[in-house]
Amino acid sequence: MRTVRAALGLGSNLAGPRRKIAWALRELNRLPGTRLLSSTTPRWTAPLGRVKQPDFLNCVAWVRTSLSPMGLLTELKRLEVLAGRKPGARWGPRPLDLDILYYGDERISTAWLTIPHRVALARPFVREDLPKW
Ligand code: ADP
Ligand code: MG
Repeated sequence: MRTVRAALGLGSNLAGPRRKIAWALRELNRLPGTRLLSSTTPRWTAPLGRVKQPDFLNCVAWVRTSLSPMGLLTELKRLEVLAGRKPGARWGPRPLDLDILYYGDERISTAWLTIPHRVALARPFVREDLPKW
């Protein structure tokens, strides 16, 4: 079966960020056809945009997966909801945000998915920590 290495950005600034990130890493390893390969040490990051909100705890994780890009996105959205996120709360505080930074070397541009995720890749925790392994 074809598997692909994907890089994911994780973030949380509500409802116990440390526990939320640790939970998300465990759940990623339990997704169908998916193994967690490695993750960076979570670090606190100032939020983007104008909404006044707590800092985010962020990390980057590599997974190996047989899920398709949309299959992976669907699973990530499911985990966000399980973590207590209300759909539609963009830019505001959220208990969990899971973004796909890279999916192998694929380039995807649809209404639902943009990969590589340029905005997320520009964030300091990704730019500085992602190349470390
Ligand atoms: P944010 O841009 O702050 O991460 P959301 O997490 O609410 O906002 O995501 C909004 C939408 O972005 C998702 O419903 C998803 O369809 C879309 N999206 C586009 N590209 C990606 C990607 N690479 N990873 C995750 N979501 C993506
Ligand atoms: Mg997101």
